[in-house]
Amino acid sequence: MRDLRISVTDRCNFRCVYCMPREVFDANHQFLPHSAILSFEEIARLARIFVGLGVQKLRLTGGEPLVRRDLYRLVAMLAELPVEITLTTNGSLLAKQAKALKAAGLHRVTVSLDSLDDATFRAMNDADFPVAKVIDAIEAAAAEGLPVKVNTVVKRGVNDQDIVRMAERWRGTGHVARFIEYMDVGSSNGWRMDDVVPSAEVVKRIAARWPLEPIGANYPGEVAERWRYVDGAGEIGVISSVTQAFCSTCTRMRLSTEGSLFTCLFAQSGHDLKSLVRGGASDEELRNEIAAVWQRRADRYSEIRTEATSRERKVEMSYIGG
Ligand code: SAM
Ligand code: SF4
Repeated sequence: MRDLRISVTDRCNFRCVYCMPREVFDANHQFLPHSAILSFEEIARLARIFVGLGVQKLRLTGGEPLVRRDLYRLVAMLAELPVEITLTTNGSLLAKQAKALKAAGLHRVTVSLDSLDDATFRAMNDADFPVAKVIDAIEAAAAEGLPVKVNTVVKRGVNDQDIVRMAERWRGTGHVARFIEYMDVGSSNGWRMDDVVPSAEVVKRIAARWPLEPIGANYPGEVAERWRYVDGAGEIGVISSVTQAFCSTCTRMRLSTEGSLFTCLFAQSGHDLKSLVRGGASDEELRNEIAAVWQRRADRYSEIRTEATSRERKVEMSYIGG
């Protein structure tokens, strides 16, 4: 167990077609009430216990983590731990908050951006949000000294024509472009294998323009496979959960907004930690429970995925945290 992803909210101001399709997450959708979600104090306490069990990296995610009020306060609480603190965000609210987040102790940020073409991006986020504002946010974060990765989910026929342009935009900037295979998360995005652009194809298309060579992982269990431009203009990453499953080296746990522990992004259910926390469990009891969940895990969904399994009920990514 090395990475903990913490979902701080199930809400989001975007309705990305592959994550929170508007037909499902509509005006009638019931988001969690405030009383059901972990407080910053509860999250910080659990994070400390996870770090005691070996976690070295905490990633705040959601939903859109920056819609949670005063998130920098949680960052400051977590920054007391001797681990890396990162954030994944759609960037819409980042420009305003980058300074406070950096000052609170955030180490790095991942900004999701699916296209540089404004019309394509607006269609994918389905909230009519412009590209220019996300680019401003990336620059604001970099200006604060935060290392930036830019995540692009590639969906065939939707934004795959933008792969090379995306690579070009971030080449030489120090920001790392990362291309993610479109996944069958949750049960609402209507995933089909035909919509997936394999990472091998992404690498081939970019390498045809600027030669690439593979480089080793930063640490064991890293999800992105790294490639470097031979001309020295930086690196890219590809995340191939569909075509090259990495279950066997997975070191991640996920804490949902409600305080349930999930051992896999594709899980059908979690392990309730919130009841233990609110029921007065000691740190030792929580530690034993978390360790037991980790020791029992046998998840390997990406290794056994088929079109049929993609239709099984799974927890939504906006709830569990991407
Ligand atoms: N709202 C934040 C954001 O968009 O960065 C954080 C949460 S989001 C669920 C985390 C990451 O998951 C994003 O980079 C997003 O693009 C990715 N994601 C969401 N649905 C996906 C899917 N079906 N396949 C692959 N990646 C997906
Ligand atoms: Fe919101 Fe992120 Fe999901 Fe898009 S990917 S709907 S920004 S949580």
